[in-house]
Amino acid sequence: MIPSRAREPEAMKTTTYTARPIAPPALKELRETDDAGRPTSPFTDTEGGAPLRCCLRRSAPGERIALVSYAPLRRWAAEQGVDPGAYDEQGPVFIHAEECAGPDTDALPFTDNHRTVRRYSADGHILGGRLVEDPAAFDEAFTEAFDDPAVELVHVRAVEYGCFYYEVRRR
Ligand SMILES: [Zn+2]
Repeated sequence: MIPSRAREPEAMKTTTYTARPIAPPALKELRETDDAGRPTSPFTDTEGGAPLRCCLRRSAPGERIALVSYAPLRRWAAEQGVDPGAYDEQGPVFIHAEECAGPDTDALPFTDNHRTVRRYSADGHILGGRLVEDPAAFDEAFTEAFDDPAVELVHVRAVEYGCFYYEVRRR
């Protein structure tokens, strides 16, 4: 009975939530003008280590990147046809300055530090959140969030800075 063994990795993968990078159409716009209306100024990252929200990895020294203001909830809400009202906000994110390939792995990124998993309802209102300190506890935090039928979306964010890292959606 080989089939059940062969199926295992696939089955495990479907139980894991996926980190969503900034979508290519939004990246295209952000590379010209950011969500605060400022013209984007690319620069060469001499040090590396900037968390890139397009490829969901840290930059390597010498890569061309940009720091732009991004409004993840506003863009999600526009796609869903809902109005987040006062919950809309924007903040700084690093992206590649030019078109890039996106993430090359399904592994959950940026779990190397404690993060906030912030929950949102279908109409884009905040429904609380959870501090995640253990890299192994992210999946549990997502499962816990989506166990609440009112939760439609979560943001993984930096704790001290509050910066947006990526979005995870209800499957
Ligand atoms: Zn990239």
